[in-house]
Amino acid sequence: MTSKDKKSESEAQGIVESRVSQEIRDITPYSVPHIDCKIKLDGNESPFSLPQDVQKKVDEAIKQIDINRYPDPEAERLIEIVSKVSEFPKDGILLGNGSDELIGMLITTLTSGSGKVLCPTPSFSMYKLTALVMGAEVLEIPLDENFDIDLDSILKLIQEEDPDLIFLASPNNPTGNMYSASKIAEIISVAKGVVVVDEAYSDFSGYTFLPLVRECENLVILRTLSKVGFAGLRIGMLFASEDLVSEINKVRYPYNINSLSQKVSEVVLENHEFVSESIQLIIRERDRVYKVLSSIKVIEAYPSDANFIFFKAEDADSLFNKLVEKDILIRNFNRPGRLENCMRVTIGTPEENDAFLSALTEIFTS
Ligand code: PMP
Repeated sequence: MTSKDKKSESEAQGIVESRVSQEIRDITPYSVPHIDCKIKLDGNESPFSLPQDVQKKVDEAIKQIDINRYPDPEAERLIEIVSKVSEFPKDGILLGNGSDELIGMLITTLTSGSGKVLCPTPSFSMYKLTALVMGAEVLEIPLDENFDIDLDSILKLIQEEDPDLIFLASPNNPTGNMYSASKIAEIISVAKGVVVVDEAYSDFSGYTFLPLVRECENLVILRTLSKVGFAGLRIGMLFASEDLVSEINKVRYPYNINSLSQKVSEVVLENHEFVSESIQLIIRERDRVYKVLSSIKVIEAYPSDANFIFFKAEDADSLFNKLVEKDILIRNFNRPGRLENCMRVTIGTPEENDAFLSALTEIFTS
């Protein structure tokens, strides 16, 4: 076949059919429905904006940025501050454009386009999506009836398949619970590949595996600034051994953390006292909302260690639409199988939570 023939065959098929792999074409993209509601309880973000004094410092810092220049390619100052706040050596820290980017960097580094990625299900969908995009094989293992890890099944799969990467989100999204620490510890000790404990919500559980990184060379911890007040900055943090970090750093795009995010994150982390206050308030509100949700007959609410509550309704689609009519947006996970009629509500300000709870009362008593 001449190159001219090849070109006309490609043209006949169309560029997508001829050049985009079937695997990519089969993927359902990560999508967040854009519905404008006054009360936004769908994204697991913090409902609180910056205190005025910190906002002033941020405004001043932004004025000093030279946006005609590239950012610091290594985000050195920000890494130093993260190291100080987390009490973790800076050579074991890597920053990403959200932890989403770090998930991609881990899969690229450890699977080289053909390895295996194991994740319990239901869990954060980006593990599977990113692994598929990068040509890795995805091994899914259902969580048990309490949404904890099914240890026997996962250990069997690890033994049979020797996955390169295992993603364990604890607390898990969307179910909200932590996995048993002893089960995670056992997986870390048995697995020959890398175990990623994604602690995106650990500020709300008060539990972390971070100190174990020094002892376990196959353990990686992921954290993010997104859930505690700074989702717009897109700062994810990876903690691992120095050796592993220097390999993962090779697949990082240059300047992945832009100047504005670097500067603003530096200021908020240097003034982070207000963050722990907002976390405490969210935890108190979470427990209050959980109590009320659990008292509603037609709802089954699951205990949460995160900044959101996962629950099952009788008819999730109808409840979702009725809440939207009342200007309240939550997340609807309804699909056949384990997530049938399942929904997730992010904890908002006390006023937003009150509005959500009274909307539920109105819906269920009308
Ligand atoms: N991990 C988990 C478990 C999450 O729920 C999320 C956000 N939905 C992320 C990672 C991604 O966070 P980031 O905003 O840092 O990309």
